[in-house]
Amino acid sequence: MYIVSSCLAGINCRYDGGNNLNEKVIKLVKEGKAIPVCPEMLGGLKIPRVPAEIVKNEDGKRKVINKNGEDVTTEFIKGAMKTVAIAKILEADKAVMKKNSPSCGYGKIYDGTFSNSLVEGNGITIELLIENGVEIITVDDLA
Ligand code: SF4
Repeated sequence: MYIVSSCLAGINCRYDGGNNLNEKVIKLVKEGKAIPVCPEMLGGLKIPRVPAEIVKNEDGKRKVINKNGEDVTTEFIKGAMKTVAIAKILEADKAVMKKNSPSCGYGKIYDGTFSNSLVEGNGITIELLIENGVEIITVDDLA
């Protein structure tokens, strides 16, 4: 079983109320092989919402700050924990998540400057999924 980013399954859960529909992900969901989850919704954030990016403190700790300068780390962590809980209930051992997102991004994420620049790193949910043994697969890797 897979879990997949809800926005890839065509659900309008992005910060701007849009989605990132991907036909390969839709196929997985229709075949009953994948369940969509949106960590930011699960964390209690709304649609639409102010976009957020991950920044590092002076001590190297990561936090999530939105474009208005508000700290939304708690919501992101809550969403990550709920996503992992759902993955465990479903016994999902794979996840297909939306790239570059501060929640769902794998390998590359936005750099915290809101300038469309990417740095190496994983979103908050991805880190927790990996820690819990879930394999992350990119959309490009799907058949
Ligand atoms: Fe998509 Fe993940 Fe952002 Fe939700 S948190 S909108 S699933 S990228």
